[in-house]
Amino acid sequence: MILWKNIIGVLIPAHAFTPHKSFYGNCTRRLERIFKEKYERVPAIELGLSSDTFLADQISELENKTFLTNSDAHSLPKIAREYNKIQVEDISFKELMKAIKNEDGRKILANYGLDPKLGKYHRTYCEVCEKRIDGEAPVTKCDTCDSKNITMGVLDRIEIIKDKKETKSPSFRPPYNYQIPLTFIPGLGKKTIEKLLNTFETEMNILHKLSFDDIEAVCGEKVARNITDAKMGNIQIAAGGGRSLWKSNYK
Ligand SMILES: [Zn+2]
Repeated sequence: MILWKNIIGVLIPAHAFTPHKSFYGNCTRRLERIFKEKYERVPAIELGLSSDTFLADQISELENKTFLTNSDAHSLPKIAREYNKIQVEDISFKELMKAIKNEDGRKILANYGLDPKLGKYHRTYCEVCEKRIDGEAPVTKCDTCDSKNITMGVLDRIEIIKDKKETKSPSFRPPYNYQIPLTFIPGLGKKTIEKLLNTFETEMNILHKLSFDDIEAVCGEKVARNITDAKMGNIQIAAGGGRSLWKSNYK
């Protein structure tokens, strides 16, 4: 038997809007209904790949919660697709918790993550036709076969459960910086990415710190142009629509 009262920790719902198994995605419209009086002790939610600050701040019960953008530990090469820049005095659990709770000047300085459109579950997916369903959110059935056997997209789900007319973020909310991973950028093959990483060490350096000239000097003008275009938002993004192995009950 586990003595839960002796366990010290913090609960942060992760990938909070994704379909299948997340709290908002497949369980409830309001976290407060789940956690009841303990909801105040949930300091933050983790937004997941297919959501961002703009989308999440359409739900009023999240107004005093911190937003985190974390990667999955089970896919190490993609670990920095999402990360947080955090203000702390030292690297410790105590300081991290202060930052998550926005106490004593410790805080999340910035969120870094995918443009939600790049997330696998951004739009609703028809399990019968095996295709993403476009159209104005919320999409709750297939526009081709009329089936409701769907995996609901994060954009569509938030449109259904939101309770604000428009997005309004609290003043403490840090900026959300979009980033497009190198593997998503057109014209960048495995060898080029390897060369970039061998020279500049991390994807974060390449995406956020280097100039066009830095990249051009190593990989030529075309690669530098492609990376710069992606950074500046000058490429078209096709929205993601995921494939599921589970059927979901949306409440
Ligand atoms: Zn269909």
